[in-house]
Amino acid sequence: KEPEAVPTEAVREEYENLVDLVRKYRFAYYQEDAPLVSDAEFDDLFRRLEEIEALHPELVANDSPTQEVGGEVSAAFAAVQHLQRMYSLEDVFSLEELEAWLAKAEAGIGKLGDGTPAAAWLTELKIDGLAVNLLYRDGKLVRAATRGDGTTGEDITHNVLTIKEIPQQLQGGDFPAEMEIRGEVFIPSKAFAEFNEALIEAGKAPLANPRNAAAGSLRQKDPAETAKRPLKMFVHGIGAREGLQARSQSETYGLLKEWGLPVSPYSEVLGSAAEVLDFIKRYGEQRHKLLHEIDGIVIKVDDFATQRALGYTTRVPRWAVAYKYPPEEVHTKLLDILVNV
Ligand code: NAD
Repeated sequence: KEPEAVPTEAVREEYENLVDLVRKYRFAYYQEDAPLVSDAEFDDLFRRLEEIEALHPELVANDSPTQEVGGEVSAAFAAVQHLQRMYSLEDVFSLEELEAWLAKAEAGIGKLGDGTPAAAWLTELKIDGLAVNLLYRDGKLVRAATRGDGTTGEDITHNVLTIKEIPQQLQGGDFPAEMEIRGEVFIPSKAFAEFNEALIEAGKAPLANPRNAAAGSLRQKDPAETAKRPLKMFVHGIGAREGLQARSQSETYGLLKEWGLPVSPYSEVLGSAAEVLDFIKRYGEQRHKLLHEIDGIVIKVDDFATQRALGYTTRVPRWAVAYKYPPEEVHTKLLDILVNV
């Protein structure tokens, strides 16, 4: 939308209230792993904030929530500087918006390319868990951190070492001297249901949902507590990568898999927007039959050179977008369990 005239007092007030609310909800979600509102409610507030800023750019401060990756570093953990910054994702909430996004990106890619035709889209499930950054030096896992504010994360190495699927030593050879692997730690849906049933049987309160349970599990002070939780991880990105011989993200996933890292079985490389829309439809239909909860689909430009050319804003990459499925009625396995006891 075009910028409008000077904001009225009412708009300013609405804007300031929204900024305060978004900060408060982010704190509860990221620091306390205990959200105060649903994701859909949060997304609506965030959208309204973006809308007001688009109409009145003079209101946008450097520390506006729209300029930052949500999340801070809790004093309970040691702070870790990521070698390469971690980002959030731009969201779209309708297929029309997604098509517009893809068309715009394709036009940009057309101009950058060397005559090679269409974009290759790496299409992935958006896992509803907690992002981690794993630092490998000469194939050895030396540190693990949360995303934090994107620049500085929380050191959760001891907790990550309890997750069996994350290799402490990569297999094979020829890996980069220094490499940051980004992935999502989650609790598989089936394991979550079983874990909660066991809690209920033991007379304890069940965990609210898999996302916050995963985040809470990973941000325990005592790794022995983390070890009791059925955590898994799938890789979804790469940060620093000194000496990595790969031209695209999907090719990198192939290498990571050979080295023993858990790569999602659901990712695909697609050649057109129509195929991307079909992927979204397919997974929308089976979203509750998957290994883990999802809150959308992530579409990425696969080629690294094009990713570099498109670059980043202060908060998100310009080469990726997250499509969010419409919110569903609250009807979870947990509710079934509670109704049946
Ligand atoms: P995001 O969840 O929209 O996107 C970025 C994150 O997606 C990445 O950091 C990564 O962890 C994750 N991700 C999962 N699968 C991925 C894949 N295949 N490829 C790349 N990344 C993948 O952004 P965000 O900044 O973490 O937070 C916004 C989300 O958190 C929204 O869904 C919002 O609703 C929710 N939130 C909710 C509340 C609340 O109070 N309920 C508060 C804050 C944020």
